[in-house]
Amino acid sequence: MTINVAVIGSGPSGFYTVEALKKTGQDVRVDLIERLPTPFGLIRGGVAPDHQTTKKVARVYEKTAQADGVGYFGNVEVGRDVSLEELKDMYDAIVLAVGAPRDRKLGIPGEDKTGVFGSADFVGWYNGHPDFTELKPDLSTETVVVIGNGNVAIDAARVLVKTEAEMAETDIAEHAAAAIKASAIKDVYMVGRRGPIEAKFTNVELREMGKLENSVPVVDAGVLPDSVEGEWSDRDQRLKERNLATMKEFLEIDPAGKEKRVHFSFYAKPVEILGGETVEGIRMERTRVEDGRSVGTGEFFDIACGLVIPAIGYYSEPFPGVPFDDAKGIVLHEDGRVGDGVYAVGWIKRGPTGVIGSNKPDGETAATQILEDISQGSKPGHEALAALLVERNVRVVDYADWKKIDEAEASSARAGAPRRKFVTVEDMVKALD
Ligand SMILES: Cc1cc2nc3c(=O)[nH]c(=O)nc-3n(C[C@H](O)[C@H](O)[C@H](O)COP(=O)(O)OP(=O)(O)OC[C@H]3O[C@@H](n4cnc5c(N)ncnc54)[C@H](O)[C@@H]3O)c2cc1C
Repeated sequence: MTINVAVIGSGPSGFYTVEALKKTGQDVRVDLIERLPTPFGLIRGGVAPDHQTTKKVARVYEKTAQADGVGYFGNVEVGRDVSLEELKDMYDAIVLAVGAPRDRKLGIPGEDKTGVFGSADFVGWYNGHPDFTELKPDLSTETVVVIGNGNVAIDAARVLVKTEAEMAETDIAEHAAAAIKASAIKDVYMVGRRGPIEAKFTNVELREMGKLENSVPVVDAGVLPDSVEGEWSDRDQRLKERNLATMKEFLEIDPAGKEKRVHFSFYAKPVEILGGETVEGIRMERTRVEDGRSVGTGEFFDIACGLVIPAIGYYSEPFPGVPFDDAKGIVLHEDGRVGDGVYAVGWIKRGPTGVIGSNKPDGETAATQILEDISQGSKPGHEALAALLVERNVRVVDYADWKKIDEAEASSARAGAPRRKFVTVEDMVKALD
């Protein structure tokens, strides 16, 4: 009998799981259950709006979603509209692909002041994620501090300093484009606890910072070593050498005529967010690197700023009914097997690391395990969930509905832009009714 599988979450890991299950050629039906009407997880809501080539990976997922025996229940949140226990009665296997949507905290005084926005929220805001439409960051400040030295930090800094023309062919949310255009931002400090060699930027993202229309990268020549020393893999050694060479090229860039600067600040860690109710600055402690770890030196300095964006990583929320490893911020599992017919893939399984493609092996592993563990299906699957959701008056957005939302977004885009995003669930659903 057909094996019915529910995949909760339609980000990359969810789609790779569906693809792997269908590729087995076995008698398997799969339903993707997604809390938003729109699919693709962080590809829509995380990947920077000016990186459209990266977002195009979703085209492969389109084919997966439209294959025979694949269903899409958009606008259905597990935990709100249907419980995990109910799904267990309806599906032979359940795959958790819900990601890691929360920001890691800095853990310093003042973190709750107005004007501190974790990167998950801030990136969601400029990408039009409905959860963050009302964020309304005040961009009237001249100085922003982004904490972190990875690609998410660089994305946030870049989007803040790009010109309207540079963002014209992107799908940045209109509210964010307007706020950034009107902003007073001149200086963005991107601060890392360790040095330029330890920074986790990929080279393409780093180089981009030297090619912006109205912004220059600023690096202190004194922190750039002559060569990359340390115990790295060959691949990391090459990446670090390329990054060092790029930062040295930054020293040659003529700042004339550019109004904005992104400061690459190394060897400093935040110790306190300053101000009253609202951020007025940040106190930093200088650090040095010992055995690869950053150590405070006891020397402090302040940066006056009106906005702080910690971009120091993500963590998952506990999923109701599933054992959770609080220390690692992931579900408890054995190579993806959670137990009781439940499996985990992607960031909820591995933690928030890696690129889109890093999630593919998880999907393959889960598909193999499901077919190892279950030889015969015995649960009703799709029709049972559809009936329950009708009974509960849930406005399910199926894949044909999503395509209508997609077309409505594309057809209302400004010239050159791929789409004009709906930024509330209400507007997405209204476009259908
Ligand atoms: C800001 C940012 C930028 C990035 N940029 C790049 C990049 O340029 N290139 C690259 O290769 N990688 C990039 N990545 C990494 C990439 O996005 C991740 O590797 C990938 O999205 C993780 O996939 P996932 O499926 O585990 O989680 P997600 O993509 O987060 O998908 C999880 C899905 O589950 C849904 N969901 C959650 N809870 C429920 C529930 N209870 N019920 C139903 N649905 C639920 C969510 O709405 C979401 O759609 C970026 C990541 C971030 C954070």
